[in-house]
Amino acid sequence: MKPIVTRFPPSPTGFLHIGGARTALFNWLYARKTAGKFILRIEDTDAARSTADSVDAIFNALQWLGIDWDEGPYFQTQRKDIYARHIEKLVASGHAYYCSCTPDEVNAMREAARANGLKPMYNGRCRERGLSKSDNTVVRLKTPDTGVTVVEDMVKGDTAFQNAEMDDFIIQRSDGSAMYNLAVVVDDITMGINTIIRGDDHLINTPKQILIYKALDADLPVFGHVPMVLGQDKARLSKRHGAMSVEEYRKMGYLPDAVINYLVRLGWSHGDQEFFTRKDLIEKFDLAHLGRSASMFDMQKMTALNARHIQAKSAQELAPALLPLLKDQGIAAEDDTFTHKVIETLQPRSKTLVEMAASARFYYVDAPELDEKAAAKFLTPDTAGILTRAADAIESLTDFTQENLEAVFKKIMADCDLGFGKIAQPLRVAITGTTVSPGIFEMLLALGKDKTVYRIRRALSIIASGSS
Ligand code: GLU
Repeated sequence: MKPIVTRFPPSPTGFLHIGGARTALFNWLYARKTAGKFILRIEDTDAARSTADSVDAIFNALQWLGIDWDEGPYFQTQRKDIYARHIEKLVASGHAYYCSCTPDEVNAMREAARANGLKPMYNGRCRERGLSKSDNTVVRLKTPDTGVTVVEDMVKGDTAFQNAEMDDFIIQRSDGSAMYNLAVVVDDITMGINTIIRGDDHLINTPKQILIYKALDADLPVFGHVPMVLGQDKARLSKRHGAMSVEEYRKMGYLPDAVINYLVRLGWSHGDQEFFTRKDLIEKFDLAHLGRSASMFDMQKMTALNARHIQAKSAQELAPALLPLLKDQGIAAEDDTFTHKVIETLQPRSKTLVEMAASARFYYVDAPELDEKAAAKFLTPDTAGILTRAADAIESLTDFTQENLEAVFKKIMADCDLGFGKIAQPLRVAITGTTVSPGIFEMLLALGKDKTVYRIRRALSIIASGSS
């Protein structure tokens, strides 16, 4: 069997949106799963809307997602000669012809068809005129007048299009530039693409593309048109449904593995499984389980999945992504054992890395910023006794271990006849500045003995000065 060759051909008219990323993923996963090839092609022929910034944004987003390509990027603007050669071939073989009808004339034909209750279209006037190329000629494909063109689609099944409703469409403009459908097909043929997975908004182009394949005597690829991603209101996903670019998710602290996991599940399933590692996806992805009905984008689900991926990673894996977010807060953290411990305490309670970075702040500052309400409630002359005992007992520990810390707590609980919470809360506020934090023992262990004692004593001096 020939190796599978897939492609992702974005038009660089903006950032990589999550719908596009999903299409890229399906094609990439299928190529990776089958040990085939994945090609990147930039469809930049729309000069007015294509920008270099968009090209960069697409590269960066794909790289961040870990979607690598084996060939390309190809740029359609650099392939004009290839399109022109194929168009000449089509004219020479009688599958296409020059047409000199003006836009006004074509409009008149359409009006006439409409007046007769027919579909408005070009009437084939130049088909047999044998015109040669001139400044104002376009090239049209000779399409069959009868019969049907069937799109065999692995997701949608067969869809038949009436040839009589397809006019001889233009494949080359009078300025010599190729039309979209021609360029796509010539690219797909010359790049050896044999599997095309794309959004079903392109299904409308597929019968025309099939006619071009046939006219060029080329093998058809396998097509799979996947339903569009919808918002919760079942409307096509757009900005008003929330963050739409892959880049925004990076900035909000999502992990690429979580984003790809979520996007693949929007349109593909493997039983009830929700959580997939990248390796899992490559192993399990298949075309048979691409869904026929549209999926709805649910940011809450994606966030929940992100939390699971954060938990599933090691602190060493997360650190490189967390450090820049700490830096944004002015914290110069290192990728060291301390940071790894910090991360481990926060993994079970962080839905995003941005959240994790915010919660990690107290670990790195010299002294925590005190939340006024928390301090007023828990750093008081009443709790000073507990805090003093804790500072003294912790200071005297030679081994700063969970076991010894638990013993310190037990002793204070017994001596003062207080429950665990009454001791933990003032300590928590002294250490973190707030009442919400990781588990007290793991947090103290991550922070280390000296910083723990320093912070408790600092809280005590604040209580003594009466400023809390
Ligand atoms: N350039 C097209 C787009 O960005 C994709 C064309 C195709 O997949 O055939 O929607």
